[in-house]
Amino acid sequence: MNADASVLIVGAGQAGVQVAEALRTLGFTGSIQLLGDEPHTPYHRPPLSKAWLAGTLDAAQLVMRAPQALERKNITLRTGAKVAAIDAARKTVHLADGSTLPYTGLVLTTGATPRALAVPGAQAQGVTALRSRDDASVVAQHLDRCVEQGRGVVVIGGGFIGLEVAATARKKGLAVTVLEAAPRLLGRVLAPVLSDWYARLHRSHGVQLVFQAQVARIEADAAGLVCGVRLVDGSLFEAALVVVGVGVTANDQLAAAAGLVCERGIMVDVCGRTSDPFIVAAGDCTARRLADGTLLRLESVQNATEQAKSAAAALMGQERPFTATPWFWSDQYDTKLQIAGLSTGADEWVVRGDMAADVSASSFSVFHFRQGVLLAVDSVNAGKDHLQARKLLDAHVSPARDRVADLACDFGINTHANHDEAARAY
Ligand SMILES: Cc1cc2nc3c(=O)[nH]c(=O)nc-3n(C[C@H](O)[C@H](O)[C@H](O)COP(=O)(O)OP(=O)(O)OC[C@H]3O[C@@H](n4cnc5c(N)ncnc54)[C@H](O)[C@@H]3O)c2cc1C
Repeated sequence: MNADASVLIVGAGQAGVQVAEALRTLGFTGSIQLLGDEPHTPYHRPPLSKAWLAGTLDAAQLVMRAPQALERKNITLRTGAKVAAIDAARKTVHLADGSTLPYTGLVLTTGATPRALAVPGAQAQGVTALRSRDDASVVAQHLDRCVEQGRGVVVIGGGFIGLEVAATARKKGLAVTVLEAAPRLLGRVLAPVLSDWYARLHRSHGVQLVFQAQVARIEADAAGLVCGVRLVDGSLFEAALVVVGVGVTANDQLAAAAGLVCERGIMVDVCGRTSDPFIVAAGDCTARRLADGTLLRLESVQNATEQAKSAAAALMGQERPFTATPWFWSDQYDTKLQIAGLSTGADEWVVRGDMAADVSASSFSVFHFRQGVLLAVDSVNAGKDHLQARKLLDAHVSPARDRVADLACDFGINTHANHDEAARAY
């Protein structure tokens, strides 16, 4: 793209900011407008369910980039600017305020929207998902009310965000119940052995866990404030705050309406290119088809950041495929979980460390293999294992299972373990 080119970025979140900055790093001198529909300057989402909600991180620390930092890079940030439609043939976007902007290159970084709970009463006050800073403020206010009134919290959905909120609410001394529809926590991402460990962790902190819970309705008082969650079996869980964490859907509606190929997300290749040669996409709004035909959707800071760099390069006509091992983290109580790789399809799990010990003192990793090939490693309070695992997975090297299980052995890529014939490159 030449100096006259103009890039519009729709969505001023993790990926949007990264694309803008990556374009400047790559030497793009044309205009860049970052259009965000939220009223806030770009901010970090992960602390919203963790340190910020717990009150150990202040609002200033949530800010990802101050407007001045973007101005210095000649990036124009427009908050409160919702894009309503894309005209791909004319290369323009229409904003909700009625204005139209032309583009040379368009970037879609629109994120995702929490799935709504489709049960009666779900609109009651005090029932909320947690995606945005405004959602987090609602959760924080209701948590304070729960503390004042000595009332409890119900979390619907035992996924990462729900469990992080549960941990934060317990830290504030509140009674917390997690209602999970599946038979275990984090069932889509963790091995059963780790789901069980997380159940023990939460129970050890006093959280009530209810599995195979079918929510029938949300109960509200005469003022419209939530007062409980009723299950199909008739049981009632009282609460003055209900946090719904039942997953998200990709914000691909703009792209789909503009004729881009979408399938549970805006379809991109490994460089963030969409089916339109002038439009790239990155982050939670995207989906990608892997070589084996699997549809991959990732919702993580690393994915948003790395895909954004690839998308910026693609706009500049460069190839920068994002092929690094996916990684993710979650903080609950004093426990840090770090996941490297994708465990789907694992047929064997090997534990390194002692999971049976006191949960608060545990440090271990779960290695996922398929036919002897390492797929993923989930590390709990074991940062060194996580870093080694990422190197192994990036290099496509599988350590021998007996060495992995033996704490006395190093399993990392530069260790003896992987220079003997037990280690397999694939
Ligand atoms: C509470 C919480 C905790 C998390 N914790 C972790 C964690 O511990 N580790 C981790 O790796 N990931 C975590 N994540 C996930 C991570 O934050 C996301 O994967 C990441 O923010 C995705 O970045 P994104 O740019 O794709 O989307 P977002 O950051 O969601 O940005 C998209 C932006 O686009 C805006 N937008 C949408 N449509 C339009 C439109 N039409 N016009 C203008 N603007 C629009 C949205 O309002 C939003 O501001 C967490 C997420 C949440 C919500």
